[in-house]
Amino acid sequence: MPRLSSPRRRLPVILDLLAATYPHAGCGLDFHTPFELLLATVLSAQCTDRRVNLVTARLFPKLQGPQSLVDMGEDQLAQEIRDVGLFRSKARSLVSLSMDLVDHHGGEVPAQREALEALAGVGKKTASVVLANAFSIPALAVDTHVFRVSHRLGLSTAKTADRTASDLMAMVPESRWIDLHHQLIWHGRLVCHARNPACSSCPLCALCPEGRRRVRPSPSPANL
Ligand code: SF4
Repeated sequence: MPRLSSPRRRLPVILDLLAATYPHAGCGLDFHTPFELLLATVLSAQCTDRRVNLVTARLFPKLQGPQSLVDMGEDQLAQEIRDVGLFRSKARSLVSLSMDLVDHHGGEVPAQREALEALAGVGKKTASVVLANAFSIPALAVDTHVFRVSHRLGLSTAKTADRTASDLMAMVPESRWIDLHHQLIWHGRLVCHARNPACSSCPLCALCPEGRRRVRPSPSPANL
């Protein structure tokens, strides 16, 4: 089998194949405002988007912004979000970050990374999701799917999500960051599963070190 070229040389074809395979990939969380997206993203830690959407469909109509969440209070909020994992600590973070928004940002979600990451419970990934999806500011969040798929494709060998994000952003044009984030998530959910990736039907297989390792050509009769 011919050797694979470097990640940088394979990357343009990988980007084109992902864009062609997932032309409608987008954010899986339901929201109408930056504040709703911020809440949903915090709730989505270690929880599926589907479950978060069920919870926020009940929660969002009861909220008119950060002050109303502060007024709701931690105990009632914890009850409202009890179907997501870690609901008590998430309720604490959401009340605290809502207080910050009221006290320091006029009740609005800031569109600057530094200000977002200063909010309670908001790290690099959450800030990137909000910047990209609420404000269309280029950012590339690395979640478990993006981490797994980009490593299998040999696009990063970094040990942490933040360093993986740095590797990807160094290689991928900024104009593709937002779409690539969604496309890698969709690919991870639909094809490149954590346990049994469907390499034999994956459009990226010929460009993927992990896929080539898993899908070996059958031996020809002459070699039997
Ligand atoms: S070939 Fe396999 S490991 Fe590689 S991206 Fe596709 S599904 Fe994932």
